[in-house]
Parts: sequence; C-alpha cells; structure tokens
Amino acid sequence: MFTVRVLGCWGAYPAPGEATSGYLLEIDGDRILVDCGSGVLSKLFEVCPIEDLRAVILSHHHYDHAADLGVLFHAVLLARLSGTRTRSLPIFMPEAEGKILEDLQEEPLIDLHIIGDRDQVRIGGNEGLNAGEPLTVEFRRTKHPIPCFGMVIRHEGHTLAYSADSAFSPDLIDLARAADLFICEASLYNHQADVAISAGHCTAGQAGEAARLAGARRLALTHFPQYGNLRDLREQAHSTFGKKVEMASVRAVWTV
Ligand code: ZN
Repeated sequence: MFTVRVLGCWGAYPAPGEATSGYLLEIDGDRILVDCGSGVLSKLFEVCPIEDLRAVILSHHHYDHAADLGVLFHAVLLARLSGTRTRSLPIFMPEAEGKILEDLQEEPLIDLHIIGDRDQVRIGGNEGLNAGEPLTVEFRRTKHPIPCFGMVIRHEGHTLAYSADSAFSPDLIDLARAADLFICEASLYNHQADVAISAGHCTAGQAGEAARLAGARRLALTHFPQYGNLRDLREQAHSTFGKKVEMASVRAVWTV
C-alpha cells in the first residue's frame, strides 16, 4: 500500500495560498513528487524538505504542471552546495528545451530521464531500512495539445491511475482499467463538452464515464476550474460513475 498526498489541485493557476497540480506519493519511507505546478514546492515543504525526495515525475510541461521545476532546480542546487543532499534526484519528464533543460542538465545531482509512451520505470524499494517492493510507473500518452503522459502506478498489487491532462478517449479508459484509485482531471463542466476535445481536457461527466467504463474502484477528481461551483463537478461525475466521487483538496491523503 502507498499513499497519495495532494499538494495542489487547481488547473491553470492556483487559488490563494494553494497550488496547481502536485501530488506526493509516500511509500516505505520514500517520497516521490508527481507534477510540480505553481506553488507546489511551498506545499511540499510543509511536508518534507527537498532532501527527502526520492524522485520527481512530470506529466507535461504546461505551467500548471511544471512552473515550479525551475525553483526545484534551485532547491537541489542549494542542498548540494550546503551539503545537505548528496544523493542524486531522478527526474522523469517529457522532452523539453530551452533554459529549464539546460539548468536541469547542468545540475550534478539531477539525473534526467526523458519519458515516452509506454515507458516503464521502477523507483525505490531497493535500499534503506524500509526496503520493500519498488514502485512501477508506466507512462501513457494522453490526448492533449502538447506531449503529456498519464501514469499507471503499481505497488504490491495496488494500482493508481493518474490522468494528468487528457481529453476523453479510449486510451484514457484503458489507463484507468481496474485501478484501485483513478485520479482524473475534471477541468470542465458538462455544458462545456463541445470544447473539451480541442482543449484536451475532460468534463466531470466524462471523468465519471471513463472511470465507470474502466471499472475503477474509486474516482477522485482534480485539476479544477477557477469558476463555477465545484459541487456541480462532483454531481456530474457521480451521475456517470454511479458511485461516490472524491474531490482533491490540499493536504488530502488517499491510501491506494
Ligand atoms: Zn496541460
């Protein structure tokens, strides 16, 4: 079993005092950051210092998932210079270019891995006092305007599916297949279905539909819009999923 701690759940930009996409996986004493949006590092540091991170995984390079990657680089650099961190930090992310790529490549403690569709990585589990099974992460390309990877995260028979950003599609259903917990974006309300495909996002109703067709045991919505009433998102997802729908909120912790 492992836990998922929500560090940020907003799409586009953060609500006051909160963050956009960021989730902390906690397993056998290891901590793995999934997505690093605006405000995520501040929320991470309420839980643990940069020294505790075992790995970072980025779904894609839109700002609401990657804005804090530059300051995460600063945190690693300063931890190295001050001697508080000596082990490397693997970062798994889609191809990038420009200054952020140069910075990450130049930092000796950052071990950069470029991910592709269906790539699988194993993280943790092979050292330390709490040694256990490694976590496996399989990346799945989603329907989104730039390369974006959802994730199927498995540990000791438990499965977490994370949509990242994605339009409704057969691939999204496949990603969530039989997941114990499906964390799915719900960027849009049902009345916005006509823009969902071109925007590369799901309506809440589509999130529930994907979860139902996939046979997911639990559904949690995230990546919320900054307008409307979020309770409508929950009701719209519930009407298609047919079961209780959970809502991400900062500091929520789910056990998978
Ligand atoms: Zn995006």
